[in-house]
Amino acid sequence: MNIIDTHCDALLKLQGDARRTHSYFQQDRQLNYLNSKELDTNMERRIEGNVKVQFYAVFISPGIPDNEKWQHALEQIDAFYEEVLTMKNMVHIKQLSDIQKLKEREYGAVLTLEGSDAFGNDLMKLRTLFRLGVLSLGLVWNNGNLVADGVGEKRGTGLSEFGLKVIEECNKNNVLIDVSHLNVEGFEDVIEHGKLVFASHSNARSIHNHARNLHDEQIIKLINKGGMINIVFCPPFIGEDKVTLDDVMLHIDKIIELGGERHIGLGSDFDGITEFVEGLEDAGQYGNLIEALNLKYGKEFTEGIASRNFTERFC
Ligand SMILES: [Zn+2]
Repeated sequence: MNIIDTHCDALLKLQGDARRTHSYFQQDRQLNYLNSKELDTNMERRIEGNVKVQFYAVFISPGIPDNEKWQHALEQIDAFYEEVLTMKNMVHIKQLSDIQKLKEREYGAVLTLEGSDAFGNDLMKLRTLFRLGVLSLGLVWNNGNLVADGVGEKRGTGLSEFGLKVIEECNKNNVLIDVSHLNVEGFEDVIEHGKLVFASHSNARSIHNHARNLHDEQIIKLINKGGMINIVFCPPFIGEDKVTLDDVMLHIDKIIELGGERHIGLGSDFDGITEFVEGLEDAGQYGNLIEALNLKYGKEFTEGIASRNFTERFC
């Protein structure tokens, strides 16, 4: 069963490897996107797990000085072009409708941005990112930036005036606005002003009370907006201690209960997490989740969560 996974951090790992090994002397590189075991979402694992489409986030750590952030973004985008897109049968998804055009043996790669830090206060840089292929914009990571505040920012405001301009630019370009990591105030503003809205990797807060998860009212608003809530496999967002596939499904049950049966998707956070759900430790193990979903909810529902809910809404 084909899977669309709307969040991973493989580009950050590839960039880190390039920097550590002084890049461009390829023989020094330790990571290879084809099969390095350090990469949860490498190509062989994607094939094994049937991950038809993977979203690849550009993520700029808040500790990086402002004047270096653009450079870091370009390095991760370079890794996307040079190391991911060069894989055999990999197709660059340049607009979301391209997902529907993928042939039998082809795999799709979507470029996304996690946090607005990379473009600072410069809409020209944002448009440049769109032209390079960014199809989804996470306004913030956990920190605050010039656009909005993340869940870890004490200031706790909604979108700035500049943030509203960023939303406008996304709307104009049919770019998905990703509310994962966003605080409640910013979330409200995005629901009001955004066109295509979803949570690329978040779970249900009433099942496990973590700041990265969504309150029931937020889930209902996303559903009413025609958006999606894509389940993340990061154990601290799922439950206590060692978590299992059953724990993941409690979050799915909650979203169904709130009316979101056709609004659930998957956003693993592979390569961004260091602890794992039992039996779901890399993209190659997606089959275990699909089997468990099939068993509990049946094929029709499982196909929806795996990919159809996404393609029906956004492609
Ligand atoms: Zn994240």
